[in-house]
Amino acid sequence: MKDFAYHRPSSVKDAVALLKSHSGGKFLAGGQSLLPVLKLELAEPSDLISLAHLKELRDIRVDGGKVVIGALVTHDQVHRSPEVHKAIPALSLLAGGIGDAQVRNRGTLGGSVAHADPAADYPAAVLGLGATIVTDRRSIAADAFFTGLFATALADDELVTSVQFPVPKRAAYAKFAHRASKYAVVGVFIADTGSGIRVAVTGAGPTVFRATQYEAALGKKLAPESLDGITVPSVNLNADSEASADYRAHLVGVMARRAVAALA
Ligand SMILES: Cc1cc2nc3c(=O)[nH]c(=O)nc-3n(C[C@H](O)[C@H](O)[C@H](O)COP(=O)(O)OP(=O)(O)OC[C@H]3O[C@@H](n4cnc5c(N)ncnc54)[C@H](O)[C@@H]3O)c2cc1C
Repeated sequence: MKDFAYHRPSSVKDAVALLKSHSGGKFLAGGQSLLPVLKLELAEPSDLISLAHLKELRDIRVDGGKVVIGALVTHDQVHRSPEVHKAIPALSLLAGGIGDAQVRNRGTLGGSVAHADPAADYPAAVLGLGATIVTDRRSIAADAFFTGLFATALADDELVTSVQFPVPKRAAYAKFAHRASKYAVVGVFIADTGSGIRVAVTGAGPTVFRATQYEAALGKKLAPESLDGITVPSVNLNADSEASADYRAHLVGVMARRAVAALA
């Protein structure tokens, strides 16, 4: 790992100002994705700007039909939050299925959405629920946020401050987990928002995406059999030692049926 300067700002304003003045720097949240990247020398930031002292990013609140979760809330805190469990049980379940206890105790919601790992779980909930990502300067709709492999609409010096999740009528997440890391080989999040059905798929492609053909079919009848005969094309899906593109396409159908069944 290369040397870097370490900063500990105590406000969002100072954190963003530090990154603006050190263009080779990076924010550090839970370190569960960034530290492995640094150890492998896949990135060599000149400065690490710790977010650990930004207390204003640690809240969870339910506000006018939305669950608002601060960027520094850990996966374990989301999982254990009575407010989240009551409003969106599928989100609580998803957070409790991320990695292992150590990862859940350090990793944060903001770090997960900013990192945009193609196999991460939160992007499926963010896109499936039609959430809004709030930053130090604007609000970004989930549909416009995830732009590609480890790529988002965030500017290099932009800080995620919270994510607003609309409370759905009902929602469910089904994941086929990697045997060791628990990342999603394929994960499908389905939400009945009250004004339509949203289906978001993670792990299968270079970034999380909506399965619009499933949304149309489930919009007519919200039942597993509505997906019979509809397959997600395997072209452009991921292929690795865990699963071929064809197997991932098959898994999308299986996980989607399980998620629909879990909605009941
Ligand atoms: C062994 C292991 C297993 C894992 N299994 C899973 C799994 O099953 N499912 C899953 O979804 N994830 C998994 N993860 C990833 C984990 O969830 C990470 O916590 C998460 O991806 C990144 O969050 P973090 O707080 O650790 O961010 P960091 O590692 O600190 O940062 C990640 C990136 O996001 C940027 N960043 C961080 N916070 C912000 C912010 N507020 N605004 C803007 N940019 C920011 C950083 O600059 C960096 O580029 C696993 C990780 C490990 C090590």
